[in-house]
Amino acid sequence: MNSRRTRIYEGKAKIIYEGPEPNTVIVHFKDDATAFNAEKKAVIEGKGVLNQRISEFLFTKLNDIGLPTHFLRSLNMREQLVREVEIIPLEVVVRNVAAGSLAKRLGLEEGTALPRSIIECYYKNDKLGDPMVNEEHITAFGWATPMELDDIMHMSIRINDFLTGLFLGIGIKLVDFKLEFGRFVENDMMRIVLADEISPDCCRLWDMRNNNAKMDKDIFRRDLGNLVDAYHEVAKRLGIIQPNEQPERSKPKLVKTDL
Ligand code: UDP
Repeated sequence: MNSRRTRIYEGKAKIIYEGPEPNTVIVHFKDDATAFNAEKKAVIEGKGVLNQRISEFLFTKLNDIGLPTHFLRSLNMREQLVREVEIIPLEVVVRNVAAGSLAKRLGLEEGTALPRSIIECYYKNDKLGDPMVNEEHITAFGWATPMELDDIMHMSIRINDFLTGLFLGIGIKLVDFKLEFGRFVENDMMRIVLADEISPDCCRLWDMRNNNAKMDKDIFRRDLGNLVDAYHEVAKRLGIIQPNEQPERSKPKLVKTDL
């Protein structure tokens, strides 16, 4: 890593550095895994590289279908150059099948197909544990304008349609996923683009060829086995990784568990 780079921000799973060109930043994908609002932590070697490569692949596909994203290009296996944006403080969750917090909140059995896709918004605030908010909160507190929120909803539906089909084609059920959006000014116009990442860290992916086995971060959250093997399989089915390429074999190192 180049030590002369200026670090702008370090989050739970990524580090942001100043970019080499104006209005760009470098995103570095770490091997750190956190769950339950960072109460459970571990370092899982190889996770950052797999997430970077999967996210690069999916963002490139989305750019190709005219869905604007912050992604510009990958710099190496772990880092990508992205457009600098102001992150909208919302986690936008799209759901197709009941799981996780929705199943718990509404007493639904995990795996129940939803009558239609449902979009939820959470206010990005670790101290508050990312509370769920609605359109009223978002516009009243000025986190996004009604027009921006409209763009975010339309883009989320399009992304869901595209990704659901893409994963279905490789025997993977896209149960739910989390998106983040950013804004930037272009020709005096404010534009919204997809930001952050799309990887098995922020999706629920179930293996339709193997009894709906989990291929996502629930493996870490619920101690279900080897996370890198599962992420590697996702990358392999997407065609990012060659069938004979081997995943890194190191075991997760538990740093802290306060559960
Ligand atoms: N998610 C995420 N980051 C978060 C919360 C949720 O990426 O801080 C993703 C999660 O991986 C899942 C979807 O959003 O794919 C829905 O998560 P849910 O609300 O069920 O919460 P969880 O059960 O993960 O706490």
